[in-house]
Amino acid sequence: MKQGKAVVVFSGGQDSTTCLFWAKERFEEVVAVTFDYGQRHRLEIECAKEITKELGISHHILDMSLLNQLAPNALTRGTIPVEDGEGGELPSTFVPGRNLLFLSFAGVLAKQIGAKHIVTGVCETDFSGYPDCRDIFIKSLNVTLNLSMDDTFVIETPLMWLNKAQTWELADQLGALEFVREKTLTCYNGIKADGCGECPACKLRKRGLDEYLNSKVES
Ligand SMILES: [Zn+2]
Repeated sequence: MKQGKAVVVFSGGQDSTTCLFWAKERFEEVVAVTFDYGQRHRLEIECAKEITKELGISHHILDMSLLNQLAPNALTRGTIPVEDGEGGELPSTFVPGRNLLFLSFAGVLAKQIGAKHIVTGVCETDFSGYPDCRDIFIKSLNVTLNLSMDDTFVIETPLMWLNKAQTWELADQLGALEFVREKTLTCYNGIKADGCGECPACKLRKRGLDEYLNSKVES
């Protein structure tokens, strides 16, 4: 039986769209929140709008442009190239404290609309050096949010221990594989669905999808 209300932190990408389907299956009411921080590709916001509209999910877009003031980086400044983090260094797409900020604002929204569950697609398995994707950070923030607002929120992280192939598997189990594949944007070059095929995000996405589809054929 579905219970309660959930806020999903939603970017319009593969991971958070899978989380949206996951939440739809579990909660009576699902609300999506997208943070507009001057993304390099405005298409991300458009994808997020289209997806929530198609799924009939109420959608809040919050202005987080101040993040662009604080953290010049490859996702928000067209002049900085996107590079993989090498040798343990953070990739150039890193915005320090981004999940801390996003989840805190999602918490405030959850409080206002009476939602107890906050869903985020963060993942420690493909941990690429983002400290605020780690499970221990999420648990710590969960305690802090509850103390800060004297509430009993639960931060849900359905993808925390999944690799990219398993995230595709989850989408498939939720009956959403084709939807996620066709409607989401992961590509750093702003091409929807299977993307440009060349950038690090596309390569990671394709590797996971191929791995999952191959394992499906074998089994
Ligand atoms: Zn790409």
